[in-house]
Amino acid sequence: MSAQFIRSAHQRRAGLILAAAALASAALARAPQPPDLILFHGRIITVDPHDSIAQGVAIRDGRIIAIGTDRDILRLAGTATRRIDLRGRTATPGLIDSHAHIADAGVEQLYHVHLSDAASVAEVIRRVQAGIAGLKPGEWLQGDGWDEGKLAERRYVLAADLDRISAQNPVWLMHTTGHYGVANSQALHLANISAGSKDPPAGTIDRDASGKPTGVLKESAMDPVLGLIPPPTAQQQRAGILKSIDDLHREGITAVKDPSIGQPVWDAYQELLSEKKLLEHVCVLWYAGTTLVSARAALASIEAQPKPPRSLGDGRLLSCGAKIFMDGSGGARTAWVRQEWHKNSTEIDHGNFGYPSTDPEVYRQMVRLFHQAGVHVGTHAVGDRAIDWVVDTYAEVLHETPTFGLRHSIIHANIPSDHAIETMAALEKRYDAGYPEAQAPFMWWIGDTYAGNFGPERSLRLVPLNTFARNGIRWGGGSDYSVTPLAARYGLWASVARETAKGTYGSHPFGTAESVDIRTALRSYTVWGARQLFLEDRIGSLEIGKEADIAVWDRDMYALPAEGLRNLKCTMTLLHGESVFQGD
Ligand SMILES: [Zn+2]
Repeated sequence: MSAQFIRSAHQRRAGLILAAAALASAALARAPQPPDLILFHGRIITVDPHDSIAQGVAIRDGRIIAIGTDRDILRLAGTATRRIDLRGRTATPGLIDSHAHIADAGVEQLYHVHLSDAASVAEVIRRVQAGIAGLKPGEWLQGDGWDEGKLAERRYVLAADLDRISAQNPVWLMHTTGHYGVANSQALHLANISAGSKDPPAGTIDRDASGKPTGVLKESAMDPVLGLIPPPTAQQQRAGILKSIDDLHREGITAVKDPSIGQPVWDAYQELLSEKKLLEHVCVLWYAGTTLVSARAALASIEAQPKPPRSLGDGRLLSCGAKIFMDGSGGARTAWVRQEWHKNSTEIDHGNFGYPSTDPEVYRQMVRLFHQAGVHVGTHAVGDRAIDWVVDTYAEVLHETPTFGLRHSIIHANIPSDHAIETMAALEKRYDAGYPEAQAPFMWWIGDTYAGNFGPERSLRLVPLNTFARNGIRWGGGSDYSVTPLAARYGLWASVARETAKGTYGSHPFGTAESVDIRTALRSYTVWGARQLFLEDRIGSLEIGKEADIAVWDRDMYALPAEGLRNLKCTMTLLHGESVFQGD
């Protein structure tokens, strides 16, 4: 069901009143019981097909039973109805992040050293030193979130920096992108990485002029070190998820796609669901590895669960599909591109075109395997060459086995070619597939590193939201948390502003031609996101019959200048009509 609001803008007000009255009486005729809860005196951004604004909403059994003017909503209230006076505040649908690693990031938040706001190599070292002080000799020190683009020295953290303070402990500091990191010499030694080590397939051991490893390991070259670090315990995994869910609620986010999980994380989600502690819609993608063997193993895990839109816990937990990596990162200069990577904006990183992280032919077979099994695939693709390969693969398997509604996605889709954009538009229309799941906050949080690596010309094509919109391409917005901070308000802002954090190469190296307005940006974090979680019948807009997932804000995001968007404050979050966060 959707509210039948009048379309034309100048008639909206009159139309709203008429339609709301009709809806309210229709709701009454169907179900005579009063609502459990009403919100009124608000400015309610419904994100319905006409982007209608309402004043109040009535909720029963977690669902919206009426939405419209104050008069019509207040009239429905019974003696037992709880009333929340919004006092003019703005409400939106609960926001949806179509790409956030909430399980892993929660563990990082609770148990690792935080480096995302470190401003110099010296500060990184100080924090690591403080972390080591609490460890026994031999225990691993893990840190996350550094980015050379934010460090005063504008260079990688190196093993030589770490060795001075970590003689007794192996250290691994993951870069904020998760595609590279730095190990100290003890960790390199334990992983048998030395000057004699060759670069593994789809990986890079960074070296100094003499060929000695610097400690920086990229992509698959990280694996020997990562394999030595003890995984989080089941208890830590649960605590991490609960920490992230709490943080999501504080930012008005009520649904999330956690891309790239394995069995332990699934088990933790399921356990929390059975204890009624999973107060969030979570859709997961299972990591499918880089071979057909690993893909078959992931498929077995996927086939053991209901396929979306079917779910566990009435829409709470969905096993959505498979995740594959086509290439690396724009931060590490490992993404697969058609023109050589740049360095420091205008210098050329000679001979470096990045590389596929999965053999392209094997990738195609993996996608075919999942597609023929009726399983949704999300593929990480940052570089233009990788994105072309991914969309062409989707087109090929859809042509072979036409299936509507699997919503295969291009995760990140940082610099799509014209061909890729054309293909995405065609696949969305014809097959309900080929959707970008894009991260506008990359331009902000790792924007200075990105601008330096992509170079001046290519940067203008980065995250081309306006081109998507002009071609009728819908996309899911996301943070890629913990690559960038969790709050979706940053993504709303970055979709409009396209500004970097430090302005190393000017404040707008990505230009503003690809900006979209806040209304479009909000759709990518609501209705369009819901589609990528297979939850569009339940959430994503405030309409009769949908679940009452609602975020209340201190200011009206449709009336704010762009700069204000990133400082929006969530004051209340409802999930299925229940309050899960209450601010001031
Ligand atoms: Zn990711």
